[in-house]
Amino acid sequence: MTTIADIAKLLGTDSKGAGRRLAALGYLVTCSRCGGSGHFSQCQQYGTMCFGCRGKGKTLPRLTKKIAAEAKARQDAGELAGYFAANRARAAAKGQLEAAMADLDATFRATVVETALLAEKDTRWGNYVWCGSPVQRASALLFSLREAGFQWTMQVQFHGADPVAALAGIRECADMMRAVDAAAAPLVDGWIAAMHADAAEHNARTPEEQWKAEQVRRNCGR
Ligand SMILES: [Zn+2]
Repeated sequence: MTTIADIAKLLGTDSKGAGRRLAALGYLVTCSRCGGSGHFSQCQQYGTMCFGCRGKGKTLPRLTKKIAAEAKARQDAGELAGYFAANRARAAAKGQLEAAMADLDATFRATVVETALLAEKDTRWGNYVWCGSPVQRASALLFSLREAGFQWTMQVQFHGADPVAALAGIRECADMMRAVDAAAAPLVDGWIAAMHADAAEHNARTPEEQWKAEQVRRNCGR
């Protein structure tokens, strides 16, 4: 009898690695328990996930000495070069995720829109956001792009998402941030001027009028 541990030893890896190499070499077969659907009988804890294949629909075949020898020969012949390269690419991408997120955050902070928003935070009153302003909408977009980047890292960390795709996704978010900021930047000076005029108008009000105006504006807050 040949076990996955035997094949792992032969290929110079652990059991998990051996399973993956056999999969990469095309040895997986359709799961006989679920017929490839990944679903089987209902159970309270796991729903309908098939235990034969853990919901993947494919499993390793019955392992034999022939498969073991053949896999070793194919590995020695370099047939796993693509698999190894993909592994290296994933590891490299994983190592760059943190820096990409730091870059995304730095890009966010460096935008003309966010810089202005921060600099003018005391000009605004009544939790006021100017919902109608394109600059404010650009700010909301920038914020959601940073959030999207963060979600990519969570997907990798907790859900086994492909780090290569995540890295590309985070970089794409940074590119989109720059595009959004470039579109909104020409409007920022006008936005600041309008905000100052608005604040001056507010400051000229009596305390009672100010309180009323603030109640109205709070309904539109961020
Ligand atoms: Zn199955």
